[in-house]
Amino acid sequence: MKAAVLSSTANLAIGEVPDPVPGSGEVVIAVTLAGVCGSDYSLYHGKFGVPLPVVPGHEGMGTVHRIGPGVSTVTAGQRVVIQPNFACWDCDLCDSGLDNICSGKVRLGIDTNGVFAEYVKVPARYVWPVPEGLDDRTAVLTEPLAVAAHGVKVLSPAPRVRVLIIGAGVIGLMTLLLVKLEGAGVNVSDLQEEHLALARKMGADSAFLVGGNETMQPSSFDLIYETSGAPSGLADAIEFAAPGARIALLGLPAEAHPVPTTPIVRKELTLVGSMIYTDEFPGVLELLESGRIDPKPLISDVVGLEDLDGAIKTFNSPDRIKVLVSIG
Ligand SMILES: [Zn+2]
Ligand SMILES: [Zn+2]
Repeated sequence: MKAAVLSSTANLAIGEVPDPVPGSGEVVIAVTLAGVCGSDYSLYHGKFGVPLPVVPGHEGMGTVHRIGPGVSTVTAGQRVVIQPNFACWDCDLCDSGLDNICSGKVRLGIDTNGVFAEYVKVPARYVWPVPEGLDDRTAVLTEPLAVAAHGVKVLSPAPRVRVLIIGAGVIGLMTLLLVKLEGAGVNVSDLQEEHLALARKMGADSAFLVGGNETMQPSSFDLIYETSGAPSGLADAIEFAAPGARIALLGLPAEAHPVPTTPIVRKELTLVGSMIYTDEFPGVLELLESGRIDPKPLISDVVGLEDLDGAIKTFNSPDRIKVLVSIG
């Protein structure tokens, strides 16, 4: 099959690799559409330190192509989305529903070959049927939406709370869509005017450019979602948090940075991490099918597999939000 193979840092090429064969409890999916994500960019630049070569990519959908022994939950030809982190289901964390932070977790496209290929092998319990009325370009956004949905759940916004979302990238804007559903007023901040324009279009009540002329009132937000992972993001979250506020951290910082602890104590803030998702996939698919949110304005480009290298190289350019790769 044709696949994008990362053979060393920043060295990605399209090549022929053997077709995956499904083992017991596994299925092979013929990939139709995949999404490029920040973690693909990190992997590409050697940030994960995992053995190479690997086929990257974890946001994907397609049709069931081959079914391994013992699988009865899907049928050949069925359209599915992939939940790309495979927990061990044999540890205390998995037993208590915290499979998202299982230490034995296998990450598709990082620890094992991913979706930037014609075919990908995954455990059958990690594929979800796509509802008939849902188009591919919406369905492929299920995975990042599940990340945002988990983060939103961590703080459970109520109507009339003042919400700040720091970072108007894919996860920040998806968080915006989900928080708006709860009826809360939402403010968004970002370093790029292009991202803020999209945030306004997607329903933000106000949008602030970090370092711009218009500034937000310090200590004025009850719930804050930090989705940027930037050092200034955490500092801003703490500065703009009202006394007693809660802050969810969804962005993974590229490097360690100092935490201003004094205002955390003085304002009695709560900081909580949010890591990927646990059981959010079915609910997100249902929500997408209902049409109550439309994440498609986030799609900025659709490219072919041969343009994946360029898409990853230009990942941080402000006019790119979610880039999809059309494969099948
Ligand atoms: Zn992702
Ligand atoms: Zn586990």
